[in-house]
Amino acid sequence: MRCNGYAHIHTIGCQMNVYDSEKLRAVLHSLGYQQTPHPEQADIIVCNTCAVRHKAEEKAFSFLGRFARNKQKNPHLITVMAGCVAQQEGKRAFQRLPHLDLVLGTQAFSRFNRHIEALKSGQRRIVDTEPSDVIFETQPDSKAFEENPVSKFVTIMQGCDNFCTYCVVPYVRGRERSRSWQSIVREIEVLAENGIREVTLLGQNVNSYGAKENGPSFAGLLKKVADIDNIYRIRFATSHPKDLSEDLIRAMADLDKVCNHLHLPIQSGSNRILKKMNRGYTRELYLSRIDELRAAIPDIGLSTDIIVGFPTETVEEFEDTLALVAQVQFDSIFAFAYSDRSSAPAARFSGGVDETEKMARLNRLLAFQDTITREKNLEMAGQVVQVLVEGISAKQHDGFVKTTPDTRQMTGRSPANKIVHFPSETLVPGDLAEIKIEDAYPHSLWGKPLEQFFQ
Ligand code: SAM
Ligand code: SF4
Repeated sequence: MRCNGYAHIHTIGCQMNVYDSEKLRAVLHSLGYQQTPHPEQADIIVCNTCAVRHKAEEKAFSFLGRFARNKQKNPHLITVMAGCVAQQEGKRAFQRLPHLDLVLGTQAFSRFNRHIEALKSGQRRIVDTEPSDVIFETQPDSKAFEENPVSKFVTIMQGCDNFCTYCVVPYVRGRERSRSWQSIVREIEVLAENGIREVTLLGQNVNSYGAKENGPSFAGLLKKVADIDNIYRIRFATSHPKDLSEDLIRAMADLDKVCNHLHLPIQSGSNRILKKMNRGYTRELYLSRIDELRAAIPDIGLSTDIIVGFPTETVEEFEDTLALVAQVQFDSIFAFAYSDRSSAPAARFSGGVDETEKMARLNRLLAFQDTITREKNLEMAGQVVQVLVEGISAKQHDGFVKTTPDTRQMTGRSPANKIVHFPSETLVPGDLAEIKIEDAYPHSLWGKPLEQFFQ
């Protein structure tokens, strides 16, 4: 295809945004734009944004703000704000970014090509934040396989109906809606044909997949994806504790391809705070789900999300969270200081926690989890885990003294989602390897291959 110019896409935020950026890239590719890693060389610069926390939103404005000067030098440069901040801000985005050309909301991706054509014919300052029930679908372009040849995200549903009081997602991503199982399976078949061996199915609450559409349940979808040839591993995120069904736990236990890992956000260990967050479960219910999971899948890896410093959270309530973390013994956690989002109800709650205190709680929690992670990793020494090889390890230049400096270090993940580094001259991305764990690092494991086998 003729090259019409260069495009640069900068992605901020979650796995869903990574997936959405691939779709935007496929549209630009179909319009004849090649990707460049250098924004200063690009004719189109897109920032795919995240509005979940204030910091992420500021990053988007600061990234796009950098190109005001480039625009003076190159009046044909097109700058685009896409995704959650675009949806939230609409035309207000021009107040801070007067040089911006397109505000592309979360439900406007199917009209991206049309807007680019309009901008090329001289139109300026287009805003599209129209809601839509349709989930935009395109096949991935070839570039997507170059960047990650082994593992891909696949969004199976959009939006959220849960309205947790701190969260902006229902306001910027709209009501929950699911893709048809047929189009999900078709997309994954294409991925498998192109060498992808692992997929992560994405939704804000995958447990309610298909509930409105009368399609198969999420457990049913997992069975269909497990039937696809040459997909070795299936992961998914995120599960809501209130909707985690026995059916899903059984499917995880029964389907070999579904990895023994669950990301189950708790958010807080205090029942009063959980209620104020509108999470719809108690600490006791969460702990009973963990017991059920461990009874069905003893070697399951568990991770969670936690918010500290939610309005009115007392030190004692924060300590309830620490006690829950100690009790569950998560393999890893993602912890955040609560951030006010003006469209979410909690922004109007009184009793905000002081920023310094929030950061102190966050650091205390992270340090506490670090000791748990390290201990759990050290316990794995001597065990053999199956690793899906992803590529050359970035760790090889940084502290690995177990092998000679010129031995190639590779990296991959265990089914429980532990990062494993190991030396190998023969294993390549997409291979499955049995690795005997010899040592643990704060956030990864180190081992040696027992044998290598291909499927
Ligand atoms: N749907 C998922 C769920 O229910 O857990 C999570 C989606 S959200 C994009 C990812 C994480 O960001 C949440 O689990 C929460 O811990 C965090 N988060 C969301 N809103 C936040 C806020 N206003 N301040 C701090 N962290 C927030
Ligand atoms: Fe946000 Fe709650 Fe929906 Fe997750 S479940 S996206 S935290 S509203």
